[in-house]
Amino acid sequence: MPKSPPHEPDVGRMEFLLTLRRRGIGDQAVLRALDEVPRERFVEGDFTDIAYADQALPIACGQTISQPYVVAYMTEQLALRPHHRVLEVGTGSGYQAAVLSRLAREVVSVERYRTLTEQARGRLQALGLTNVEVVVGDGFAGVPARAPYDRIIVTAAAEQVPPALLDQLADNGVMVLPLGPQDGAQHIIKLTKSSTGVTRENLIAVRFVPLLPGQAREL
Ligand code: SAH
Repeated sequence: MPKSPPHEPDVGRMEFLLTLRRRGIGDQAVLRALDEVPRERFVEGDFTDIAYADQALPIACGQTISQPYVVAYMTEQLALRPHHRVLEVGTGSGYQAAVLSRLAREVVSVERYRTLTEQARGRLQALGLTNVEVVVGDGFAGVPARAPYDRIIVTAAAEQVPPALLDQLADNGVMVLPLGPQDGAQHIIKLTKSSTGVTRENLIAVRFVPLLPGQAREL
C-alpha cells in the first residue's frame, strides 16, 4: 500500500463518510457538504491526524469542535433549502458554519470569544466561503439586526430555550439546539414555529459545552 503523504490525516475521508452513513445520516446533500469541508483545517495542529475520527476535539479558548456525527445530525434535522438564511450560535472553529454555508444562501454565526471569531473568519475566507458572516456577541440575544432566520442552530447547551432566538425565528422556521444542564442529561431539541404556536420534538442525547451568558471578557 502506498504510504500516505506526511500531512494526510490518518483516518481517511472515505471512512469518515461511511461512519456517518452507518450511523444513520441519509441526506445526500448533508453528506456531500461534510465531504466538501476539510475538517483538518478547523482543528488545532496537534489533532490534524485525527481530524476525520468521529469525535469532538479541543480548540482555542477551552472550547471544542463538535463531533462530526452530531454536526451531520443537527444539519440534517434543519432540513436546509438553498434559499434559507441561517443563524448559528457558537461559531467555535467555524466548521459547522462552513457545512451550513454549503447548504444555505446565507449564514450568520455569533461567537462570544473574539479569538475564535477571528480564527473562524480566517479559515472560512481561506476556503472561499463568502456567504458566512461571523460576529462577536452574546448568542443569548441572537443577532436581531439580521433577523428573521429560516433556521437557527445552537451549538452550546442551555437549560432553557433563549427567548430572543425564538423571536428571531421566521414563521415556519426550525430551530435545533442542545438543551440540558451542564453536567447532566442533554438532548437535541427541534422546535418548529407556525402560526398556531411552537412544536417541540426531543431527539438524541448529546454532550455540549455550556452556552454562557454575555460576550467573553477574556479574549
Ligand atoms: N459550532 C462549533 C462548536 C463550538 S463549541 C464548531 O463547529 O466548531 C460552542 C461554542 O459556543 C464555543 O466556541 C463557545 O465559546 C460558544 N458560546 C458559548 N456561549 C455563547 C454565547 N452566549 N454566545 C455566543 N457563543 C457562545
